[in-house]
Amino acid sequence: MILVTGGAGFIGANFVLDWLACKDEPVINLDKLTYAGNLQTLSSLERDPRHHFIRGDIGDRDLVASLLLEYRPRAVVNFAAESHVDRSIHGPGDFIQTNVVGTFNLLEAIRDYWATLSEEEQSSFRFLHVSTDEVYGTLAATDAPFSETNRYEPNSPYSASKAASDHLVRAWHHTYGLPVLTTNCSNNYGPYHFPEKLIPLVILNAIAGKALPIYGDGQQIRDWLYVKDHCAAIRRVLEAGKVGETYNVGGWNEKANLDVVGTICSILNELQPRSDGKPYAEQITFVADRPGHDRRYAIDARKLEQELGWKPAETFETGIRKTVAWYLANREWTEAVTSGSYRQWIDRQYGDE
Ligand code: NAD
Repeated sequence: MILVTGGAGFIGANFVLDWLACKDEPVINLDKLTYAGNLQTLSSLERDPRHHFIRGDIGDRDLVASLLLEYRPRAVVNFAAESHVDRSIHGPGDFIQTNVVGTFNLLEAIRDYWATLSEEEQSSFRFLHVSTDEVYGTLAATDAPFSETNRYEPNSPYSASKAASDHLVRAWHHTYGLPVLTTNCSNNYGPYHFPEKLIPLVILNAIAGKALPIYGDGQQIRDWLYVKDHCAAIRRVLEAGKVGETYNVGGWNEKANLDVVGTICSILNELQPRSDGKPYAEQITFVADRPGHDRRYAIDARKLEQELGWKPAETFETGIRKTVAWYLANREWTEAVTSGSYRQWIDRQYGDE
């Protein structure tokens, strides 16, 4: 049994679906169901006895403590977070509350639980903290990609809150001996991505005939990783990662935002041409840049590749094609998200909180 937090969000839900597709080990899924949590993504598991969903906050130490004692998981994988940089600029409070205070309370509940385990259970227990490459700050065009030894230099409220959580996790290992692992991953894309993020936003705006907004000059560079490759990396680190270590996860796919949008437009021109026959790229609109926008992120994933034998299965070209095709084939999911009706299912089950 493992406990996954934030398992109704983009990466967490992909992780839960992949985990139960590869393994029989049950999952307890604790998620607060903020705007980013979507139980419709997990509808295929509604009658699966291996999946136990609980609505709750990682910052609710009593709730987490009772879940740990009831289910006695052998590992916790922490995806729960506020994750959108633009939202963190407009309202950083929730980011501090969940990413910093929430992680602290989660760590404390886990520390208490861990102390109740036998020596053998203690040594095999793992707390895996899922984090981001944004904690390292920004790179100049000629800088080497981020490695695990790069200094933390977060620039946005989001990345600062994630950096703080990474430091707490590290300290709980060094001070209390908690067996932790941390992964710092580049930008993910793939199925079930909330359309406030660049790739799903561009696909859905394009087919709806809306503008495709590009920040500044569109030359900001990101490393992109197909979400299922990230899930496989987390499974591998959980299985074989060295306690107390951090692992960078990335796809060696550095792309400028404008090129990402151009690629999506070309795939759409082919898979679902506009009714007027014109290219989707005509819908591109440049908008004012995000304040403090990091220029370039790039990940050196050699530690994970060489020590644990992980490799991404998708290139950007294969992954982005699968992603565009998924959004075109799953209109029920995308329409429920864009119309907001995905919240009704949650409200019926849990009340409107
Ligand atoms: P997301 O915003 O799609 O999902 C976050 C989930 O956490 C949601 O289901 C939300 O309801 C839940 N949640 C929020 N606050 C909570 C709380 N206090 N208690 C319990 N649940 C809560 O995010 P994502 O893109 O799936 O990212 C998951 C994790 O991976 C985050 O920690 C993020 O920092 C990290 N990460 C994301 C990316 C990326 O490209 N998306 C890249 C690297 C790392």
